[in-house]
Amino acid sequence: MSLSDIKERIARAEASAGRAPGSTALVAVSKVQPRDRVEAVLDQGHRLFGENRVQEAAERWPAFQERYEGIALHLLGPLQTNKARQAMEMFQAIHSLDRPKLARTLARLAQEIGRCPDLFLQVNTGEEPQKAGVLPAEADGFVAECRALDLPMRGLMCIPPVDEEPSLHFALLAKIAARNGLSGLSMGMSGDFERAIAQGATHVRVGSAIFGERDYG
Ligand SMILES: *Cc1c(COP(=O)(O)O)cnc(C)c1O
Repeated sequence: MSLSDIKERIARAEASAGRAPGSTALVAVSKVQPRDRVEAVLDQGHRLFGENRVQEAAERWPAFQERYEGIALHLLGPLQTNKARQAMEMFQAIHSLDRPKLARTLARLAQEIGRCPDLFLQVNTGEEPQKAGVLPAEADGFVAECRALDLPMRGLMCIPPVDEEPSLHFALLAKIAARNGLSGLSMGMSGDFERAIAQGATHVRVGSAIFGERDYG
């Protein structure tokens, strides 16, 4: 796979879902990938990247940002409140808003800093105990709470259980977003981004299908 293959598959999925070309943003998930692979994707002109950890992003991206114009970074992984300020300064969007305490911290910092990244509320659609995110039944209340804090709510995000048909989870996320008037849907990864696009994904988060397998060793 390569960046151009993935872009082609996204375009085909948009077309067969009857969606406008370019209506799905491709977040290239560069976490753990070696620099040269990230650089190759930058050299092909891609500028939107996703990282899981504030620390890792802070170590690698400032150097790339000196050399390449227009890079946008999205945070996808869990955010500790003590890293929230750094995250708000580095990322254009946070896809992992998953608890009221973090919402309150972001709201306070947004006042201080004078701006806030676009926020996606993470929903634990599979109700998995080990997974971050609010339960589907709590989502409406949490969206309202975030809006009361004046946070810029862009949409919802989910990571379906590995052993279940993701389309059901994507459809559930789309339904919760629609009834809350949220337009953003961050869903779909290397194995299922076409199915996510069929269910209305506005942001697909694709890592290994672009960069190759991650080596955690
Ligand atoms: C790692 C990760 C991805 C990308 O996963 P791939 O299967 O490599 O495409 C997407 N979203 C989140 C939240 C991730 O942690």
